[in-house]
Amino acid sequence: MLRTHTCGELNPKNISEKVTLCGWVQKSRDLGGMTFVDMRDRYGITQLVFNMQTNAKLCEKARKLGREFVISVSGIVEERSNKNLKIPTGEIEITVDKFDILSKSKLPPFTIEDNTDGGEELRMKYRYLDLRRNPLRKNLELRHRMTIETRNYLNSQKFIEIETPYLIKSTPEGARDFVVPSRMNEGEFYALPQSPQTFKQLLMIAGYDRYYQLVKCFRDEDLRADRQPEFTQIDCEMSFVTQDDILNTFEELIKHLFKKVKNINVEDFPIISYDYAMKYYGTDKPDIRFEMKFVELNNLAKGSGFKVFDDTESVVGICAEGCGDYSRKQLDKLTDFVRKPQIGAKGLVYVKYNEDGSFKSSVDKFFDQKALKTWSEAFNAEPGDLLLILSGESGHTGKALCELRLEMGNRLELRDKNKFCPLWIVDFPLLEWDDETNKYHAMHHPFTSPKAEDIQLLNSEPGKARANAYDLVINGVEIGGGSIRIFNKELQKKMFKALGFTEEQAQEQFGFLMNAFEYGAPPHGGIALGFDRLVALFGGSDSIRDYIAFPKNNAGRDVMIDSPSAIFAEQLKELKLKIEE
Ligand code: ASP
Repeated sequence: MLRTHTCGELNPKNISEKVTLCGWVQKSRDLGGMTFVDMRDRYGITQLVFNMQTNAKLCEKARKLGREFVISVSGIVEERSNKNLKIPTGEIEITVDKFDILSKSKLPPFTIEDNTDGGEELRMKYRYLDLRRNPLRKNLELRHRMTIETRNYLNSQKFIEIETPYLIKSTPEGARDFVVPSRMNEGEFYALPQSPQTFKQLLMIAGYDRYYQLVKCFRDEDLRADRQPEFTQIDCEMSFVTQDDILNTFEELIKHLFKKVKNINVEDFPIISYDYAMKYYGTDKPDIRFEMKFVELNNLAKGSGFKVFDDTESVVGICAEGCGDYSRKQLDKLTDFVRKPQIGAKGLVYVKYNEDGSFKSSVDKFFDQKALKTWSEAFNAEPGDLLLILSGESGHTGKALCELRLEMGNRLELRDKNKFCPLWIVDFPLLEWDDETNKYHAMHHPFTSPKAEDIQLLNSEPGKARANAYDLVINGVEIGGGSIRIFNKELQKKMFKALGFTEEQAQEQFGFLMNAFEYGAPPHGGIALGFDRLVALFGGSDSIRDYIAFPKNNAGRDVMIDSPSAIFAEQLKELKLKIEE
C-alpha cells in the first residue's frame, strides 16, 4: 500500500507514530513560519504542518501546492495546539518530513466544498469533481448501505438474486422502449427492459420460488426530478403466496431498512383502497403525514342558487386548521395557486370560521350563517379554522384539491422530512381507458390478475374490473408497486383481448409466456421498488439525481461524456441503418 492510514482515522492514540498518508489538497494556509495543509480523502481530512525553521526546503515546496493536487506525505503524528473538536482527526496533525506530489491538478471549475459555488450544469460536466464533495459522497454511501441491507434482508428470507438479460424484447410498463439494433440480425432490434417482468415470472415457472434482483430498468419517457431514463429497482417475485404475504414481506423489508439505516421504528403500514385514496386525498399516492382529508359537500352546497356549485359535478373541500385568520392577500395567493395552469381550478371558495363562532365566506350572498355552520360540521371544523372549497368535474377537482392540500401541508409545516408514513394502496382498477388510442390500457401491466369476482366483468364492463395490484407509497411518493399475476393461458388471452390485442398479436409478442403457462405455472406475484427514489427519500431529498453516481440531465443527456451522440457512418452501415436526410 502507498499509505499506512487514511485521512479520517488518526487521533490522539496515534501520537508519535510515523505514518504515510495519501490524498487531495483541500486547502493550504501559509503563515510565514509555518504552512498548514488540509489533506482530504474519502474518509476525512487531516492537517499537515510544514515548519520553515526545521525544514525550509519542504516548506517551500508545500507553499506551492495547489488545490486538488494529489500528494503522499510521511511524518509524525503530533498533538495539535489549536484543536478542532468538530472532526474526528481534529486533535492531531502530521509534522511532515517527506512528501511527493503524485499528481497535479488544474484549478477546479468550482469549489470542492460542502456548499459549492458551481452551478448544476457545470457540476454535471465535471461529475467526478462534484463526487469528491461530502454531500454527494454521503449520498453514495447511504445508497451502498441500503443495497447491503436490502440484500441482507432478502437473503435472510430465502430469496435468491438472479440476473436477467438487458437485451430483450419489449416488456410493456407503460413507457416507450429504448431499442438496440442487432448487427447480426439485419433490420431487427432488441429492446432494453422497462422491467424484468416476464423473466421473473418465467423464473417462478422454473421453480425459483423467491427471486430478487437489484436491477437497472430503462424507460424512454419525459424526465422529472424523480425520473431518469435508466434507474434501479429492487425487483422481486414469489410463488405460492397471497397478496397479504407479499405486502407483509415487503413491509418488513422497508421496516428493516428504516431500522438498520436510520434507526427509526416505523409503524405498521395502513392499507387503503384506491377508491378511498381518490375520494379522500384525490390521488393514489397520498401523503398521510397529515390528515386534512377531503370532505364532499354536494348535498349541502348544491341547490342554493349559487350557479357555480349547482351546475357542477363535485363540490369538495379541505379544512386548514388554525388558518381562519388568513388575510385577503393570503387568500388571493391561494386562489392564484389553484388557478395556475398546472392546477387548473377556476376559482376557490373559502369559509373562515371566526373565533367568535360566526362565519365569513366568499359566498356569503348565497349561503347564510346556518348553512355555513352545517358545512363546518361536515368538516369537523373548529373556530379559527379555514375551509377551502373547489368545484368542477370530479377528476380535475380532486387533482386540484390534492395539490392545494399539499400546499397547505407545506404552509403549515406538516410535511416533516424526518417523519416517514408509508402505506399500501390496494384494489386498483385493472384497466384504464385511454382517449387518445381509444383503447383500454393495463393500469399496472397486462400480467396483473383481475380479482376473481371481477373476471366476468372482462367481457361486459372491463372498466369496472379491479386488480390484485398494490402500490407502496411513502410521504406522497410512489415507491413501488406489484401484483398477483395471471398464471393461466386462457385468462391471459382474455386479458390481451380486453387490451385490444388480436390473438395473433398476443401470441407473437407474449406467446413465450403464455406457452410457459402450459407447463406447470405456480400461482405467483411480486413487486418492484424504485431504489433511487427510496434512497433519495431516506436522504431527505426529492431529487434522485443526487443519489446516482452518473445521472442524466433533464434532456436525458450525460453532459460529461456527451451522450447520446451520433455514431460513425461505418457503424450505421454495419447495422444496415440509414438516417433519413
Ligand atoms: N414490473 C413492475 C414494475 O416495474 C413491478 C411488478 O409488477 O413486480 O413496475
